[in-house]
Amino acid sequence: VRPTVITIDGPSGSGKGTVAGLLATKLGWKLLDSGALYRLLAFAARNHGVDLTNEEALKVLAAHLDVQFITAPSHNAQQIILEGEDVTDAIRNEQVGAGASQVAALPAVREALLQRQRAFLEAPGLVADGRDMGTVVFPEAPLKIFLTATAQERARRRYLQLKGKGHDANLSSLLDEISERDERDSKRAVAPLKPAPDAIQLDSTELSVEQVLEHIMSEVARRD
Ligand code: C5P
Repeated sequence: VRPTVITIDGPSGSGKGTVAGLLATKLGWKLLDSGALYRLLAFAARNHGVDLTNEEALKVLAAHLDVQFITAPSHNAQQIILEGEDVTDAIRNEQVGAGASQVAALPAVREALLQRQRAFLEAPGLVADGRDMGTVVFPEAPLKIFLTATAQERARRRYLQLKGKGHDANLSSLLDEISERDERDSKRAVAPLKPAPDAIQLDSTELSVEQVLEHIMSEVARRD
């Protein structure tokens, strides 16, 4: 059987991470959280004292990232190990997100991470979430979703998520940070955040996670 891919792209806080994790579990497929790779690179750069503008050094770091994604059975969240250290939570703050968005704008970094992302593809299938899964990394994917929500709603979700994990959070600064990151991700020259021409656009502002999942499952069923 040839492995297949479902891509889920969209801006930060659109719910794609949650939806992708649930979908992968439901289908019994592998999961690629591509944003985590950019976050890991920004995090590793800080650990190694590499400047986030040093494209050459970041490229080398990206090619040698020592990372493991561990998916516990019956659990849709992945544990992420960087150089032997559990960084699952440490890479989730807005500071690392902003660093990720900065390194993600560098062509050599994207190139260095391309093969690593494609290597996640295995039978029976892969759910890949990010910004350019449907446009650049898996352009041949038979099902592409572009998930959006208003910036206000996305900031509100991030706020609740952070609070739920016991972190400090401020709604209006989250909204500013999210808008700034959207702007950088959409305007960059390489692999900007934009829907693939053949992507199904889904606005999740008024939808629950379950409703988004149902919608995608009905698209999967239509293709079977
Ligand atoms: O999805 P997440 O918020 O974890 O992604 C962090 C950052 O990584 C994004 O703001 C974006 O700049 C970058 N990214 C990317 N391409 C991807 C996934 C993430 O440029 N496929």
